[in-house]
Amino acid sequence: MHCPFCNATDTKVTDSRLVGAGKQVRRRRECIICGERFTTFEIAELVMPRVVKRDGSRLPFDERKLRAGMLKSLEKRPVNTEQVEEAIQKIMHKLRATGEREVSSKLVGELVMAELRKLDQVAYVRFASVYRSFQDVNAFHEEIKRLTKKPKKPNH
Ligand SMILES: [Zn+2]
Repeated sequence: MHCPFCNATDTKVTDSRLVGAGKQVRRRRECIICGERFTTFEIAELVMPRVVKRDGSRLPFDERKLRAGMLKSLEKRPVNTEQVEEAIQKIMHKLRATGEREVSSKLVGELVMAELRKLDQVAYVRFASVYRSFQDVNAFHEEIKRLTKKPKKPNH
């Protein structure tokens, strides 16, 4: 952290405490060169990559949507909320850990399937069947589009 007074690079932390319900760290720093004191606030940055859909459109990552999709698959299954939240945190951690600014919706789907598989086999199969059939529908539409673009054969 550069000193805002003399721009020196050597500053020392004299005090450090959690503020804002533990979401921020307030630090008192002292410049080793000019002796001035200043305060910094640090917040952990939790940036989620954007999601690139199969059609190339990009959407911000939506945690609520992810949760809703998983809960739908887990309906009436013996999995508690805590386990679901843990799985969601794991998925989000893995997405952040890619270090990418954008990830494919396919990767998100695969991570969800991997977590559901560990939680509950029935939920896994439910999710996978919906997820895969959506992909098949897309493939089907692509094929139709491709065929209709072909010049028509003469009828006679
Ligand atoms: Zn200084």
